[in-house]
Amino acid sequence: MRKKRGKLVVRHGPMWSDKTTWLIAQMADLPSLAFKPSIDNRYTDKAVLRSHTGAEEEAVLVDKHKPKLLWDKVKSGRVDRVIIDETNFFDDRLIKVINKIISSGIDVFAAGLLLDSDRKEFGPTKKLSRMADEVIEGRARCDFRYANGFCLSPAKYTFAKAKKSGQLVVGAADLYGAACEEHYHLLHVTKEKNGQWLNRLRLPKRVKLTAEVKTYLTNLKLPYLRRPLKFSESRFPRIEVGADTMRVGKTTAVKVLGQELKSRGLPVKVSFEDWRHNPHLTKSYKDSSLAILNSQKWFAKRKYEQLHLGAKKAIWIQDVHPEMDFCYALTNLILGRMTLKHFKDYAEYFYSFDWAHLPAADALLYLTASDEVVIARAKKNLRPFETIENDYFIVMKRVNQAWLAGTKYLLDVVVMPVNTDNFNFATSKGAKQKLAKKVLKKLAELGWRY
Ligand SMILES: [Zn+2]
Repeated sequence: MRKKRGKLVVRHGPMWSDKTTWLIAQMADLPSLAFKPSIDNRYTDKAVLRSHTGAEEEAVLVDKHKPKLLWDKVKSGRVDRVIIDETNFFDDRLIKVINKIISSGIDVFAAGLLLDSDRKEFGPTKKLSRMADEVIEGRARCDFRYANGFCLSPAKYTFAKAKKSGQLVVGAADLYGAACEEHYHLLHVTKEKNGQWLNRLRLPKRVKLTAEVKTYLTNLKLPYLRRPLKFSESRFPRIEVGADTMRVGKTTAVKVLGQELKSRGLPVKVSFEDWRHNPHLTKSYKDSSLAILNSQKWFAKRKYEQLHLGAKKAIWIQDVHPEMDFCYALTNLILGRMTLKHFKDYAEYFYSFDWAHLPAADALLYLTASDEVVIARAKKNLRPFETIENDYFIVMKRVNQAWLAGTKYLLDVVVMPVNTDNFNFATSKGAKQKLAKKVLKKLAELGWRY
């Protein structure tokens, strides 16, 4: 005899948290009917539930956009328990269908991902968890490996091992892994993907790389891996500001953002790029590779000190993140302003700092502008000692963008388009407020509600 009302039990967790194994175990003692969305053909095309460990049970494939078919099957059969796998792939109509099934006195056991690999809500799983009678939070093993073995912290996130084209990309071990809070940021991008930055670098045709430089760059890793701090309401967020190039309004954005946040009563500490104290900077514009090397080394060291210091009791805003410093140097190598020998020296120096133990920005504000705006702004705002041609800015933009393409999977980035005519932080009140609003919105998404 059927109950008046069935119950809903939901298990969610990252990939590799034994969700399907758990579902299969629920099928052991009662006449059950199992469903899964037809998008999922990772292990088999047969209509079965198949766990990562290889256990199998028969299942009905349902078009992910037609969860109603699930109800049609249930009401025409003799079933005491309904099993649903991969709830994340269905749309919200699944909720209604599940309500119908429960109302008819049948228990439903459902499992799926709560979050996709970008840690965004994935399908109706969260809503199902809220209405469930029982929720089980599955955890997997973190894929991060220390020298002496795997990380032992429970993994609650799925990370992507390769760039994917959208949320609904089905994949298994080749594409996804599981990570704990601390290591998600370190794992959520592949080594290959980091290495593919050279393909993403769309240099102007007139810029030619020597064969030697090209070979070197093919193996060069761009810097991404600083350590993200755990979110806590009791600490203040760290914001860093970068841009396509110099002269697009970074420093102004830093000032304006600082003022706007202060005017809202928030404690703020701003850390500017310390170019005024760099004894090598003026010389470096006279096209001496050695002077550029010295100047870039000075910036790397200074930036390390600034980041190390940070701010404890205020929102901290850093003008120019160290990876952008690295991109400056790289631009000089690509344009032949810095010799390969000097750049290697620089890269070795840069990586000799213990960046991996410095906190990454909680949010990176990144200013971007069209090539025309970049050039127009560059010409307008030159410091007296700067003698630079257009290519310098265009190449710098390409390098920074190549870096950003690999970084936006690791960091929370706020991209701010800059336009000389109608969007000027320095003068427009509206623009100032928009900038602050965008950053505050990102911080709120991350958990800081000011
Ligand atoms: Zn871990």
